[in-house]
Amino acid sequence: MSENSGMGRRAFLESAGAAGLASLTDSARAAQAGPWKGGKKWVYSITYDEGAQDLLKHAVPLHRKYGVSGHVCLVSSQIGVPRNVPGSSYHGMMVLNRGDIQGLAKEGWGFSSHSMTHASTSFENGQVEVADARKVLEDAIGLPVTVFCVPGSNQGHPASLHFAPLGGYKAIMTIYDWVNTKATDLMWLGRCPIHTEWPGPFYSKFDPYKRLQQARALGGWIIDYCHCPMPGKPIHPAKDCTSEELEARFQAVKEIGGDAVWLAEPNEVVDFLVNDEESQRLRATPATPESMVLNEEMRALYRQR
Ligand SMILES: [Zn+2]
Repeated sequence: MSENSGMGRRAFLESAGAAGLASLTDSARAAQAGPWKGGKKWVYSITYDEGAQDLLKHAVPLHRKYGVSGHVCLVSSQIGVPRNVPGSSYHGMMVLNRGDIQGLAKEGWGFSSHSMTHASTSFENGQVEVADARKVLEDAIGLPVTVFCVPGSNQGHPASLHFAPLGGYKAIMTIYDWVNTKATDLMWLGRCPIHTEWPGPFYSKFDPYKRLQQARALGGWIIDYCHCPMPGKPIHPAKDCTSEELEARFQAVKEIGGDAVWLAEPNEVVDFLVNDEESQRLRATPATPESMVLNEEMRALYRQR
């Protein structure tokens, strides 16, 4: 909706009914919300799905240079072994082992379960892929796990919503591309893909400033999403950036964020939000598919069972 649409914001909200409005109204509320941990105004996090061991070479040094704590979403049954997900761009890549993971944890990195086997999450497999995957990962890495990261696509989110609470998770990360706020339902966390080039029709190019001004204006929380940045050329242009682009991203976060941005590992942010009274109040009404997604095909998936 543009300011020139001839319809004021209030009229738009009233005419549009409940559908699709939660993000607008939540954003407006969140923009007036108080600070984050340490008085910071907004939050920046970044996640790497699959946990390739090459992160140690091409991403971790940049994290140290810019003082950012990273987060890895791990397939619970594949720690310290070559990735076994045929068809994946990352199939066959060596995955971080328990020692690598514990070393990163000492530097402030965090971890989440990216399902048991990276199968598309469904109501048939959800007990194993979502719920049981938490304990399996905890045992494999020797660290607590309280966040689930939907594998593949958002099509697996409806079943994840059902099984994550049964498995004892506090939050779910998706690949819905939006900025989270203090009002965002913790089971609906969005992530911002930072890719080198998206497929058509727009072929969107990497933007180091993507969503940073929005996160700052909303007092929100941006969670970047990529896999394993490599020098010069991404492993997959729509799933990753290069390590040069990753460095440009960190520089942009520093430039836009200065002292106001909380560079935070996602588990830490979830724990903060769970205990923050203002966030508790803003999240008192759970999200619904209708309040979060306009797309009818996605909404229909949430009605299946
Ligand atoms: Zn994945």
